[in-house]
Amino acid sequence: MFCPECGSTDKEMVEDICIDCFLKEFQMIEIPRKIEVQICSHCNSKLEEGKWSDEFIPEDEIIYRALERNIKIADEVENEIINLEIDQIKGTIAYCYVEVAGYVHGTEIEETHDCEVKLLKTVCPSCSKIQSGYYETVIQFRADSREIKAEEYAKADEIVERTLVKQSKKDKLAYCPQIAKLKEGYDYYIGSFKSGHKVAEALKEEFGGIIKESPRLISEDKSTGKGLYRVWISVRIPEFETDDFVMFEDKILQIHSITKNSIVGVDISTNKKHNIPMKNMEDIKLVKKAEDIETTTVISKSPSIIQILDPSDYSAVDLEMKDEFRDYNIGDEIKLIKINDYIYLLN
Ligand SMILES: [Zn+2]
Ligand SMILES: [Zn+2]
Repeated sequence: MFCPECGSTDKEMVEDICIDCFLKEFQMIEIPRKIEVQICSHCNSKLEEGKWSDEFIPEDEIIYRALERNIKIADEVENEIINLEIDQIKGTIAYCYVEVAGYVHGTEIEETHDCEVKLLKTVCPSCSKIQSGYYETVIQFRADSREIKAEEYAKADEIVERTLVKQSKKDKLAYCPQIAKLKEGYDYYIGSFKSGHKVAEALKEEFGGIIKESPRLISEDKSTGKGLYRVWISVRIPEFETDDFVMFEDKILQIHSITKNSIVGVDISTNKKHNIPMKNMEDIKLVKKAEDIETTTVISKSPSIIQILDPSDYSAVDLEMKDEFRDYNIGDEIKLIKINDYIYLLN
């Protein structure tokens, strides 16, 4: 065959010219001389096709990925090996080159391309929200009809922090920009609703109580017409605590345990355990605190009567003997609680 470019007649032909003439013009890859990547200077996430993604990737890796993404390989290339190199970084510009080796129509060729990757540093929407103290949720940590104790606040702080650390792996807005310490309780401001909800659940898990969510429209996005909501979540923990005495459905119970979804109490007259769903918390009335338990002495006993000293006036009081008190001897100390002028012996 005759090559119209160089006149040779003994070479392999590609389309209608010889291979040498074809390769003179041929480029295995195409890559722009300049590439720009917008990255967040706080979390290194990058903007691609309108979306921020891949936070916390090192800069080198961002540059390599930008090069890779911008390379177009010609169809004729086979068995190519591409080598990306960052020659040097000056300021925000990385001077790079891309080496390619591969086969085209059976001939091995190599080429090198220079490329500048410019990193435009900006602040992504999440980081700008964090900087401005943005929040979507306020958790109002309260106790029913009483003040919250210092140790309960300390525990709650710890739970909020622990939950947010866990959430921050998948939610950039898992942070607490502010804690308002009010007389009635703490308000924890939480960046996102999703993490706020998790925090409220974790508080309930520890303290029991009732969660109520009230979303409020705070503004309207004029461009989309969509409402922007903020959610107030009240976490109201019970007035009573473990070992306190409560009234529930005409029974007096001593609280045995408080969990996320239920309250276990022991009837102090019958020693029977009752499991009350947490949603009935409001029907449980505190009657005496654990601190009101008194101690006295057994002064006599018979098969049907146990006689003790009333600790308030040292008078002798006869009470009905029950199985659980049969092992007590005269002179033993015994615990009691007074409720509505009635003395209940405690086991
Ligand atoms: Zn030729
Ligand atoms: Zn960011």
